[in-house]
Amino acid sequence: MSDFSTQTKLLHNAYSVDKASNGVSVPIQHASTFHQHDFTQFGQYDYARSGNPTRDALETTIAELEGGSHGFAFSSGMAAVSTSLMLLSSGDHLLITEDVYGGTYRFVTEVLSRFGIEHTFVDMTNLEEVEQSFQPNTKAVFIETPSNPLLKVTDIRAVTGLAKQNDCLTLIDNTFLTPLLQQPLHEGVDVVIHSATKFLAGHSDVVAGLVVVNNEQLAEQIGFLQNSCGAILGPQDCWLVMRGIKTLHARLRQSVETTYQLAEFLDQHPLIERVYYPGLASNDYYAVQAKQAANGGAVLSFEIKHAEAIEQFVDSMQIPVFAVSLGAVESILSYPRRMSHGAMPDDQCDQRGITKGLLRLSVGLEQAEELKADLDQALQVTAAACAASDSA
Ligand SMILES: *Cc1c(COP(=O)(O)O)cnc(C)c1O
Repeated sequence: MSDFSTQTKLLHNAYSVDKASNGVSVPIQHASTFHQHDFTQFGQYDYARSGNPTRDALETTIAELEGGSHGFAFSSGMAAVSTSLMLLSSGDHLLITEDVYGGTYRFVTEVLSRFGIEHTFVDMTNLEEVEQSFQPNTKAVFIETPSNPLLKVTDIRAVTGLAKQNDCLTLIDNTFLTPLLQQPLHEGVDVVIHSATKFLAGHSDVVAGLVVVNNEQLAEQIGFLQNSCGAILGPQDCWLVMRGIKTLHARLRQSVETTYQLAEFLDQHPLIERVYYPGLASNDYYAVQAKQAANGGAVLSFEIKHAEAIEQFVDSMQIPVFAVSLGAVESILSYPRRMSHGAMPDDQCDQRGITKGLLRLSVGLEQAEELKADLDQALQVTAAACAASDSA
């Protein structure tokens, strides 16, 4: 199977036909335990926390898609992140990107720190800063690219190279792009992590996490931690993620195409202050993104001019759902300052460019022209609201 494209492998992989029944969908095995035929020789499965055929199917599929040797399915993206970070031990130090996902920030600062695992937040787009931040006890580097919500792009190969020079593991959160658009194992990364809740499953109906490695020893360690911590993904949810994966290419192609159109539309709109999208040639990170990813992805952020009318803007938008999360069939509009970064003080937000007027849009499968019209009418409402308050 290995010489097929990732697009074809979404459908035709080790589990495209069930070996027992020839069914073209993987059976959902709910059993929590497995009968052992023989007193001394146990079968492939014993207890479902340690392994289950439905989970095996998803784990093998994601490993194949990322070009890795072993996959692991977890009960959430955060379970995948936290279990992976338990590769570290007391006394170790972690370098981590400063604009990491909020849940990862919380885990590193409030949980890992209690176990004597230190960290330094760095701007991963600044290679000099990364290089200077290694300490004698630094054991791992954690990347997330593009980052949230400003879509800053880290040069994966360059940072991985620095990590290797310092005998460190590299972990990456690949949620925003999926293996279809970015395959970090090929850039030298050791551990690839996904919130499969987002693009991979894609339908806002399941919470799941995945990890992929390409190394026997690391696989053993992650497998041990997965079984020890126990935050596994249930069979029903494994099946939902696999169903989502089958349409990933069609969904992403459509969403990415619309995202480019919206990015250009917003970039030229007089009521928009700034657009953040690494697919735009004018973006600071365009070249790095083009080098390591297939395109800019299906998430963009933008800052409206009339930030004081942000509430009217959000209330006027008719098509996207207003919610946290991303990577779904429906477009999702979110307000980072009160959602993903709600725990961050306002001055910290301002410092990082997460301003009062900043919104993030995860682009779904709606018609591009209708999304443009929706954005435009909501922007006109903000301009009218500001004109009214100015003249009052
Ligand atoms: C959502 C998300 C997570 C956390 O995943 P959950 O499935 O919500 O636990 C981690 N990283 C990124 C980039 C995310 O968007």
